[in-house]
Amino acid sequence: MNTPSLEFGQVTIYLGAKNGKYPDGNQVVVRGSDTKVVFDTPLVANNLKRELKGTDMVILGHVHEDHTAGIHLLPDSLVLAHEADVDAIRSMEGLLRHYGLPPKLNAQMAQFVTDEFFFQPRPDAKSYHSEQSWDVGRSTITALHMPGHTGGHCALLVEPEGVLFIGDIDLSGFGPYYGDGCSNLQDFRRTLDRLKEIEAKAWVTSHHKGVITDRKTFLDMLRAFTAKIDDREAAILRVIGEKPSTLHDLVTHRFVYPDWYEELWAESCEIYTITQHLKELQGVGAVLENNGLYRLAV
Ligand SMILES: [Zn+2]
Repeated sequence: MNTPSLEFGQVTIYLGAKNGKYPDGNQVVVRGSDTKVVFDTPLVANNLKRELKGTDMVILGHVHEDHTAGIHLLPDSLVLAHEADVDAIRSMEGLLRHYGLPPKLNAQMAQFVTDEFFFQPRPDAKSYHSEQSWDVGRSTITALHMPGHTGGHCALLVEPEGVLFIGDIDLSGFGPYYGDGCSNLQDFRRTLDRLKEIEAKAWVTSHHKGVITDRKTFLDMLRAFTAKIDDREAAILRVIGEKPSTLHDLVTHRFVYPDWYEELWAESCEIYTITQHLKELQGVGAVLENNGLYRLAV
């Protein structure tokens, strides 16, 4: 079956299953007149062997298992990742550090990314820096550093097409994910602010929402996505307001995933997410901590 695709000048976007819903993703290919580039390689890349043939460069917008699932198909292509993420593609140890799971889960996680996402480390991967540009012939690609989801997460802008690949700022109903060891909530807030200011004609998400071509629609979706951060904060404040709570109490409560969600990383994600909110709330004096017990300041 043919993979559905959209074209903008030299850029083609191949949509993964369900518009790239996790575990799949959307594949961007830039056929520059000199250089052929792909952004990430989600699972759908494994159905696009013909389309990916002759790829010169894989530019990873960020490193996660679902964005590197086709790298094994491209052993001769140059692999690039932002300097803050590059260790995660160079080795399995680097990837596991990136997630920051409790060490007892690392063996299972390594198995998971290998079995489900064909993860193959690329010790030869090169790093790129924030705002780096590549001239690929009649199109230019620029990396806009938009950290938060991971430390090196970048949006990739292709001009003159005006295609902006925004990766895991995926505008989904789930909201922003900042639940890994390398995630940062405050960076994510700044990233979401900055993203509003970038001019583009088409916004390409890695997952679920696919391609958006209307600026107003994009801004509405971005607003709803951003609001999820405040929803989580409000939910944490509500629970603490009812009863002073330990981090453990809050983790049991769950603010990111529903109770039934039992993936390997679920608890770790809750811990990272809640901890970052608590730190922010303590910073503005809304929450106080005493002997591991968090309560409202008022
Ligand atoms: Zn990701």
